[in-house]
Amino acid sequence: MNVFVLNCGSSSLKYQLINMKNEKVIAKGLVEKIGENISYLNYETEADNEIEIEEKINDHNKAIEMVLEILQNKEYGVLENINEINIVGHRVVHGGEKFSGSVLINEDVIKALKENIKLAPLHNPANIMGIEVSKNLMPHTPDVGVFDTAFHQSMPEKSYLYAIPYEWYKDNGVRRYGFHGTSHKYVSERGSELLEKDYKDLKIISCHLGNGASITAIEDGKVIDTTMGLTPLEGLVMGTRSGDLDAGIIPYIMKERNMDIEEIDQALNTESGVLGISGISNDFRDIGEKADLGDERAQLAIDIFCRRVKKYIGSYAALLGRVDLLIFTAGIGENAINIRKKIVSDMDYFGIELDEDKNNCRGKEVKISSDNSNVDVYVIPTNEELVIAREAKDVVETYIKNIIKGIVG
Ligand code: ADP
Repeated sequence: MNVFVLNCGSSSLKYQLINMKNEKVIAKGLVEKIGENISYLNYETEADNEIEIEEKINDHNKAIEMVLEILQNKEYGVLENINEINIVGHRVVHGGEKFSGSVLINEDVIKALKENIKLAPLHNPANIMGIEVSKNLMPHTPDVGVFDTAFHQSMPEKSYLYAIPYEWYKDNGVRRYGFHGTSHKYVSERGSELLEKDYKDLKIISCHLGNGASITAIEDGKVIDTTMGLTPLEGLVMGTRSGDLDAGIIPYIMKERNMDIEEIDQALNTESGVLGISGISNDFRDIGEKADLGDERAQLAIDIFCRRVKKYIGSYAALLGRVDLLIFTAGIGENAINIRKKIVSDMDYFGIELDEDKNNCRGKEVKISSDNSNVDVYVIPTNEELVIAREAKDVVETYIKNIIKGIVG
């Protein structure tokens, strides 16, 4: 069985074709700058074929059509024909309260996703577009939606409610939803396998530190808290997002700088975070280089980022009452050796002690805590595409089983 995983952004898409027999990626790639004057299509196969195409690709329909053609190309393709794609698994950012698990997509689901656009105006429209294009190009192939928010739906009310008028929640859906759910789920489950312990017996803190960043506390296999909120703006300091701030800043700065609400939203999402503090970049590699050369604001950006992560690890340790496993994942978590070291420095009181030699690694599954550490600390590279493919397969198989049992008509 082959699952085609699609992750559509507003002007880009990432794809992977995964053979579910051995969970190997047969082909993968991305299309960028869709709708611009020059777009880029990249395609790689398991057998090391690689293609780069530079031409104008008008829309997602054309982009997916081109990817499907390349997958079937006589010379470097990996499929005889399109019917060898058995399921399409779509990443969907916001599932709201309606979706606490992955779903087979039908007209009712698309309608519900459209109702959620207001909760994720930057992400959900592109995800829905991907689903519609896939239905158009592969009408006989089932589509499954896998939500970034779903894993976090297990959070208790006391974690997801904000201390605001209750009607804002009841009437307008204002609550903590959390994001990066597929990543937190994957690395935490993988972590329990590495420890050879039952997932449900473990207390885990999972740090997804990429351009977008979030931390999740997991107990009994359920999320008990997470740093992102109604939107992916809350919590940690990120590449360009502010993370937590005093909401009073918003009316204050609107008046002081004569800004409107769209400008504020834009500034907090795209001009803040480590970019805003350093004035250099949203990328930790650039900031690290400048900090090493003595740039004070670059150093400050790193210090503030690490401090916020440390603060949440501490507060989640307090909520969990014990921590068995601390996980680092995503671009920074998997690769930034010094950032990991700085985050967990002086945390022996919490039973966290790093082994500096073991921490000297990038992009690999490694235990980086010392033998004395009470908490096992691991780097676990995330694999959101694999989670989407597994979920998509499970949803379709369950549906078929239910038809056989006569549960679904
Ligand atoms: P996203 O998927 O949210 O775009 P990623 O998880 O791919 O983000 O993380 C991208 C970020 O990871 C980069 O912006 C950079 O800050 C960081 N990163 C990647 N490689 C390294 C590295 N070798 N050292 C430090 N930071 C790195």
